Amino acid sequence: MKITEIPTQGYEKVVRCDDPESGLKAIISVHNTTLGPALGGLRMWPYLSDAEALTDVNRLSKGMTYKSAIAETGLGGGKSVIIGNAKTDKSEALFRAMGRFVDSLGGLYTTAEDVGTSVEDLVIVRQETKHVTGLPREKNSSGDPSPYTAKGVFLGMKACIEKALGTSDFKGVRIAVQGAGHVARYLCGHLAAAGATLYIADIVAERAQLVADEHGAKIISPEEIYDLDAEIYCPCALGATINDDTIPRLKAKIVAGAANNQCLTVEHGDALRERGILYAPDFVINAGGIINVSVELEPDGYKEERALVKVNNIYNAVRDIVQTADDKDIATNRAAILLAERKLEEGSARRAAQA
Ligand code: NAD
Repeated sequence: MKITEIPTQGYEKVVRCDDPESGLKAIISVHNTTLGPALGGLRMWPYLSDAEALTDVNRLSKGMTYKSAIAETGLGGGKSVIIGNAKTDKSEALFRAMGRFVDSLGGLYTTAEDVGTSVEDLVIVRQETKHVTGLPREKNSSGDPSPYTAKGVFLGMKACIEKALGTSDFKGVRIAVQGAGHVARYLCGHLAAAGATLYIADIVAERAQLVADEHGAKIISPEEIYDLDAEIYCPCALGATINDDTIPRLKAKIVAGAANNQCLTVEHGDALRERGILYAPDFVINAGGIINVSVELEPDGYKEERALVKVNNIYNAVRDIVQTADDKDIATNRAAILLAERKLEEGSARRAAQA
C-alpha cells in the first residue's frame, strides 16, 4: 500500500492511497480539526480522472467542517473517496484496504457511509480500524444516518415553505426530488405523509420506481427535473446541480435537499437570490446524519433521544439563516458560511486560551 501526501493550501492533510493488491485507489481529505476530529463519509464513485476525485473530496471535506461547526457536533471536517464503480468494483479486500488507509491517520479522520457505500461496507472497514461510525445498532453504533438526514431536510424544508410560500402545510406543494437513494426514500416518506405532491427522478430506473410505488411519487426523467413546474426543487443526488445551465431553467421557488455542495460556486447562491429562489444552504439542512453519528462519539455513547433533539433543531437553524440573510441582504449560503467561519474563529480562540 503506497500512501502519498498531497499538500493542499487551506487543508490540514490530504492523502492518497494506491494499493495494487486490492485495487484500492482512494483519497482522504482532512479540512479542519479546530472544533474536533474530522468526520465525514466515504464516497465510492467512478470519477473520470484523479483530479476530479481530488476536487470532489476537498469540496466535500470543507463542507463537512462548515456543517459540523453550525450543528455544533464538536467535530471537524473530513471526507474520503474511493475511485471506483460501486456496482462492479466492491470487494472485501478493497474495503479492508480502505480500513487500513483510514487507520494510518491514527484517528485524525473518522469515516461513515456516503454515496456508493453502505453500512455493510463499513462493517468490513471496521475490521481494520476503529475510526468508523454509523455501523449497525446491534454493534452499539448509531446505524444508518440517512433517516436522520431526511428528518432534518423535511424540517428545514418546512421552515422554507413558511418563508417562501406563507404556509406550513405541505398539502399540494409540488416537490421535484432528484435521486431516489437512501435519504430521498425516507424524505419522500415524510413528505408523502404530509400531503405533498411528489415527483422523483433517478438515473437508476428501479430506484425511482421503488419511491413511486412506496410513496405515490410520479416518475420524471433526470433531465426534465430542472424545467418542472414545482414549488420545490429537492437535490438528493450529487452536488453542483445549481449552476449556470440549471438556474435559468428552474421554476421552483425553493431549493432544499440533502445533497452536499449543491451550488457549483458560492456565486450560484447569489444567482438564486437574484432570481427570488429561496435556497436552504446544504450544509445546514442536511446535518441530521452527522448529528446522529456525532452522538455516538459522546462520552456515554449513542442515545437516539439526544440525536433527535438536535436534529429537530435544524428547523430553527434553517429559519435563522434565512432571516439573517434577509437582514444582511446577502445570499443564504453566504450567511451560512459567515456563521460557520465565526464558529471556527471562536473555536480557535478557545483553544488558544486553553493552551
Ligand atoms: P445514495 O447513493 O443512496 O443516493 C443517491 C441517488 O442519486 C442514487 O440512487 C443515484 O442513482 C442517484 N443519482 C445520481 N446522479 C443522479 C442524477 N443526475 N439524477 C438523478 N439521480 C441521480 O446517496 P444518499 O446517501 O441518499 O445521499 C444523497 C445525497 O445526500 C448525497 O449528495 C450525499 O452526499 C448527501 N448526504 C447524505 C447523507 C446521508 O445521511 N446519507 C447525509 C448528508 C448528505
